[in-house]
Amino acid sequence: MDYRHVEKTGWDVSALGFGCMRFHDAETATAAVHRAVELGVNYFDVAPCYCGSNSEAWLGAALKGLDRSKLIITAKSSPGNGALELCDYDPKGGFGIRTADEARRQIARSMELLGVDHLDMYHFWALHSEVVFQEGLKKGGFLEGVLKAHDEGLFDYIGMTTHSEADDIVHFIKHSPYEYDMVTMPFHPVNAGRTSAIDYCAERGIGVAAMNPLGGGMLGRSIPLMTNLAADVAADSMAQAALRFVAHTPGITTALNGITYVDHAEEGAAAIYAGPLGKDARQRLFDRLAEMYESVNPRNLCSACGYCGQCPMGILIPKVLAAFTDMRIPSTEEAMRADIVEKVAAGEEGWDPALCDACKQCEEKCPNQIPVTALMEAAAEIWPR
Ligand code: SF4
Ligand code: SF4
Repeated sequence: MDYRHVEKTGWDVSALGFGCMRFHDAETATAAVHRAVELGVNYFDVAPCYCGSNSEAWLGAALKGLDRSKLIITAKSSPGNGALELCDYDPKGGFGIRTADEARRQIARSMELLGVDHLDMYHFWALHSEVVFQEGLKKGGFLEGVLKAHDEGLFDYIGMTTHSEADDIVHFIKHSPYEYDMVTMPFHPVNAGRTSAIDYCAERGIGVAAMNPLGGGMLGRSIPLMTNLAADVAADSMAQAALRFVAHTPGITTALNGITYVDHAEEGAAAIYAGPLGKDARQRLFDRLAEMYESVNPRNLCSACGYCGQCPMGILIPKVLAAFTDMRIPSTEEAMRADIVEKVAAGEEGWDPALCDACKQCEEKCPNQIPVTALMEAAAEIWPR
């Protein structure tokens, strides 16, 4: 494993980080965590709402029997609702924290579920808007509670996670009462902006965790389009190509990969062991993906985070959005259309974007600000019938 030194914390962080938002169940979570640790992964990122609010308990169960002192366990919560707005306090989600007392209770809840008496870092989570930022800063509010818990010694460092654009990220860092020790932001070969924010962090010794390194799973698929491109850049798979691209971007500390099963941990570690892509291959990967996704606005790519929850019309939102993306790429269009026809014929439900009644419930919760209603409307126009 390759480790990156974070100046502000003194940590050596594994270049492959373990994102705990894609666990399937307690048993497979334990197997994946143990295998990742065997392979040298030491950075874990968890949040209350992940995996139907089971992620903290499942990670906690997996930590039993492991040498806790060698692992960096980070948790998080937010005054926000996971997207741009505020909401009522929801301990199971970890959202809507409006007072210092609620922040303290939430931190204690996470520690109890994780079965730890100390965390390594606590993040201001889902810092996606000025509204959320100002609420977090207010007297007696979220950050006051986090700083108090930090002074009590419940955790050593404070981080921030955000989907905001580079200038806003820098603004949040500059105007917080605590200069964050790590910042987590989206970064993958199709959405490789935010470099000025990455550079800003690097100059100050702030670690950067790249979230969604596989574009919400889009780049991790074993379909001909991806396997051919991987072969073209001499990588064993597209997942490995993307991880090699991300982990070796200057300023990135760790590629925070959502890991479900043992083989995901193994593939991620293999990518790190393989080292950086050659300079030409890196540029070729970037250019080919930019060309491939030309008709798709990278800002509108769903990361399959699931924050939007259940659609009242039963639409499988991330799956339909992913299918719509593939339908706009010439080399995947035909196969995707055939796949949808097959699913519908087999009686699978949730695959009809035309059912969207534009309630916008999903958009209010989307951290990526995906215009779901507009995309569903556009998808319905070209959907196979
Ligand atoms: S806007 Fe459409 S896709 Fe989103 S929750 Fe409402 S009905 Fe479902
Ligand atoms: S639409 Fe937004 S909230 Fe829903 S899964 Fe995609 S990125 Fe996440």
